Amino acid sequence: MVNNIDNNNIEEKLYSDDNLDVTIYKCPNCGGEAMFEPNSQKMKCLYCGGLFEINNNSIAQERELDELLKSGDVWEEAEVYQCKTCGAKEVISKQEVSVKCAFCGTNNIIKSEELPGIKPQGVTPFKLDKTKASEIAVKWAKKKFYAPRNFKKSVKAENLHGLYNPVFTFDSQTISSYRGRLGKNYVKYRFRDGKRVAYTETRYFNISGSQDLLFDDLLVQASSTIPNNIIKSIEPFPTKKAMAYSTEYLRGYSASTYNKSGEECWKECKTTMHQRIESAILKRYDYDVKVSLSIDTKYLNSQYKYVLVPIYVGHYTYKQKLYNFYINGYSGRIGGKTPVSKLKVGLTVLLSLLLIAGIVLLFMYF
Ligand SMILES: [Zn+2]
Ligand SMILES: [Zn+2]
Repeated sequence: MVNNIDNNNIEEKLYSDDNLDVTIYKCPNCGGEAMFEPNSQKMKCLYCGGLFEINNNSIAQERELDELLKSGDVWEEAEVYQCKTCGAKEVISKQEVSVKCAFCGTNNIIKSEELPGIKPQGVTPFKLDKTKASEIAVKWAKKKFYAPRNFKKSVKAENLHGLYNPVFTFDSQTISSYRGRLGKNYVKYRFRDGKRVAYTETRYFNISGSQDLLFDDLLVQASSTIPNNIIKSIEPFPTKKAMAYSTEYLRGYSASTYNKSGEECWKECKTTMHQRIESAILKRYDYDVKVSLSIDTKYLNSQYKYVLVPIYVGHYTYKQKLYNFYINGYSGRIGGKTPVSKLKVGLTVLLSLLLIAGIVLLFMYF
């Protein structure tokens, strides 16, 4: 008897509104489902169009680097899904009702056992809505001369999907001391058999000194789902404007799973910083040859942020092959591969051959 009452209580608790996270997405006017809306940067009701504020709208805070080594907060409100059609893995909010794959558009996706990892500290929200993003994509597709006509037709808002990519950004104040040896080439002349012959003489010199550089929000992608060269082509992402993470931003969107830990990203960041320090040092000298350069760097006041950045993913299947293109959800920069129509390439080759033949004939007869 006692057990029964307890069970009833549990049931009631589960279904009462204030125990379900879903309530935060409900429209205060009509109770309808709401989604993040880029133009207003607010939540918008899908039924009555009402707009309302996001719960926690403050700027994302940086954390001390030591905290990177500790395990962060678990991303409890999200789970990992895998697409059975294209294999992509995505992090999706537990509250999401209809789930579609961002990369191929099918809803052939199943929940995976994998955990979504640590909870992001911040989100750079989408600034462009789908309509604007698709306008950019249509213009871009039109310029792709060799792309098949069907591809250009398939570029529309409903084939775009908003996806957040996880990134680490790092700040660091670096102090480096260096020591090395460089060489400068001089052209000299000598006479051999009565002829003036030029030759190169390299004069070597030692260098040493110190170099300070400040790094602010250096970005390292934590996911390799989207190829790095494509991400680079649509950067930058304004991570300085990242808002404190709130699940509402994920509503209607998904996120890439990360496959690089914070430590790995910090290592990658240090390599980038080292390269920049090295080129800052070398810029000070007039040299042609680098013999050696050793740099000893201290990284002070290092901080990090784990942030989601906005990307629209477009997809198109051509001859059973999946093609994706990507749009920066903040700036609208676009990149990616497009299919190539063999017919169009063939026709172009044929036309140019005819043109050449025409020119040859013209020269032969006139
Ligand atoms: Zn409403
Ligand atoms: Zn897929």
